[in-house]
Amino acid sequence: MNIPENLAVILARIDAARKAAIAPAPRTQLVAIAKTVDEDGIGQALLAGQRLFGENRVQEAQRKYPALKAQFPDLELHLVGPLQTNKVRDAAALFDVIQTLDREKLADALAAERERGGKCPRLFIQVNTGEEAQKAGVLPRDAASLIAYARGKHLPVEGLMCIPPADDDAAPHFALLAKLAKDNGLSHLSMGMSGDFELAVKFGATHVRVGTAIFGMRAPVEDQGI
Ligand SMILES: *Cc1c(COP(=O)(O)O)cnc(C)c1O
Repeated sequence: MNIPENLAVILARIDAARKAAIAPAPRTQLVAIAKTVDEDGIGQALLAGQRLFGENRVQEAQRKYPALKAQFPDLELHLVGPLQTNKVRDAAALFDVIQTLDREKLADALAAERERGGKCPRLFIQVNTGEEAQKAGVLPRDAASLIAYARGKHLPVEGLMCIPPADDDAAPHFALLAKLAKDNGLSHLSMGMSGDFELAVKFGATHVRVGTAIFGMRAPVEDQGI
């Protein structure tokens, strides 16, 4: 795996997809998803200029990032995996963005943590666009009310995130997420992974989340949160 080379290829593909798109977002940022990748691999990406990273487990991130953040203060860390309320304090302290707000109880816990004097990361609300029983995310029909609830608590909700069903055409899911964001006055859209980020760019993604195309195949893990 040549991580710097892979990064350059992905950035060029994002750029080309943006040029080909009719209405791309003003800017599309690459979030390098580094779950199961060790500090050496992440360090190679940092040296190549990459600054946004995503992880799906709080504990794994706690292990890997304090040292990297000390070395690269502009590293921006996104949580893209499900968050349990009992991990909110740790997650709020470490992550710059939490992309997986999906229920009122979690909004309550984030608000309580901030009230206590803790940090509040910027937030995306995860929408379960495929309405899959096993997947995290608020149902599309409940998204507006969760957004309103979080805003009522003065939480910094910036956008929406989705993980379409693995076997579906992702296009209608990206279109639905873009419509929900527009209807609710949200400007950020986190969608698209290694296999479909160019399609996501076409639908207005502001953040694409790419793992394997940068870092190579992950060893199979029973639950990676997707
Ligand atoms: C693992 C993961 C990705 C990246 O998937 P790849 O197919 O490896 O690019 C994106 N989003 C989430 C939420 C993930 O858990």
